[in-house]
Amino acid sequence: MRETTVDAASSGGELSNWQYGPLLESTAERAKRWLDAVPDRPVPPHSGIEEAKNALGRHLPENGHDAAQVIETLVAGVEPGLMTIQSPRFYGWVMGGTYPVALAADWLVSSWDQNAGMRSITPGVVAAEEVAAQWILELLGLPAGSAVGFVTGATVANYVGLSAARYQVLANAGWDVNRDGLFGAPRINFVVGHERHSAVDLAGRYLGLGAPMVIPSDAQGRMRVDLLADHLADVDGPTIVCLQAGNVHSGSFDDFLAAIEVAHQRQAWAHIDGAFGLWAAASPRFSSLTEGYRRADSWATDAHKTLNVPYDCGVAIVAHPEAMAAAFRVETSYFVNAEAGADPFDLVPELSRRARGVPVWAALRWLGRSGVISLVDRLADSAAVLAAGFRTLPGARVLNDVVFTQVCLAFRDDATTLGVAQALREDGIAFASPSRWQDRAILRFSVSNWATDAAQVELTVDAVRRALAKWDG
Ligand SMILES: *Cc1c(COP(=O)(O)O)cnc(C)c1O
Repeated sequence: MRETTVDAASSGGELSNWQYGPLLESTAERAKRWLDAVPDRPVPPHSGIEEAKNALGRHLPENGHDAAQVIETLVAGVEPGLMTIQSPRFYGWVMGGTYPVALAADWLVSSWDQNAGMRSITPGVVAAEEVAAQWILELLGLPAGSAVGFVTGATVANYVGLSAARYQVLANAGWDVNRDGLFGAPRINFVVGHERHSAVDLAGRYLGLGAPMVIPSDAQGRMRVDLLADHLADVDGPTIVCLQAGNVHSGSFDDFLAAIEVAHQRQAWAHIDGAFGLWAAASPRFSSLTEGYRRADSWATDAHKTLNVPYDCGVAIVAHPEAMAAAFRVETSYFVNAEAGADPFDLVPELSRRARGVPVWAALRWLGRSGVISLVDRLADSAAVLAAGFRTLPGARVLNDVVFTQVCLAFRDDATTLGVAQALREDGIAFASPSRWQDRAILRFSVSNWATDAAQVELTVDAVRRALAKWDG
């Protein structure tokens, strides 16, 4: 027995016809309703996981449901539990919103359903990704001829960069990790800064590098290059140094010019985690922060943060295509490998994947270079205005030098900061992540959304003022 009355043509996994149109039209209407509500909807979810599971149905249905009803149930079940990440007043972690043009392109990526691994099999989407890759190198001022892979995010982009690094530094020491594995290999000195993102540790874990050697940071979270130099003077053998463009708390950038010089003097591979901060390189305004970054050997960044394409899209860039190929290239009898140049699957861990570089192409084509520069500048300007607004609140302190998009706000003691965080969440107008930095509870604001401007910042400062007044009773 069917559980509901159904149109036999579109239920129970059976289709008598090629039926996409009406379902996609009604779904586009629902998506539009969601997107129209975003600017005014409370930012945090209204309900939790258990309610959503109840609404979605916990039991595997014996018989299928009508497709339109499935989508209706999905919307009704899931929407109350959605965090409004696209809100211009969402400042949590570091998460971008979605440009309309990138979302539209992403819909097409799903509709086209291309497996973007091989140039000769899906040339249309691979062309869009290869063009987008060239544009990224140009925009970010990275060496032409670098290998670029589109991955799920900066975590995997760090993994890709460090995979190429691992291959190369071991090869330099006379060890072929592809043939002989890691057991018995010379130990790699895996060097990071105290305030690196945990994604770098994860990448090291995937690669069997063991716990990293941690170099202390300065007050803004930048690696102490003097201590890096001291450390490297004491070690020999294969070495990878991981630097950071954009500290998630302070937004600070490591001193690339000095650190990369020190690393290269020791034949180390220099990698930069620039999940959001690498985009500063697009704007001349931030050239003093990014100076020297282009001499690194690999870079990891995200498009789903600063560039505001939909989840998920990270970008891995390696200056030495041979090392990238050594880490990822596969050849078998049934793949149709490109004769010249790398196939997309020679640049990433996956064989099968969606063409997630296509929305990047769309966003860059729509923005142009000048649009990317104004986006990056606007995010940083909004962070500065936000910090200035916070400084007018009683007992409030901005702990970091606001050099880019990040603002760490603290009140007179940890209890007040946590209380304000809770009151802000209940208020719902804006959302920031509670965190700890410099041994204090903080509320961390990351300006990552294209739609955050002076007016939105004003609403945000008002919301924090209300939350503080509420806590103070
Ligand atoms: C967000 C972030 C990451 C992890 O990126 P994902 O896209 O979440 O995988 C790594 N490093 C830094 C500095 C980040 O901000």
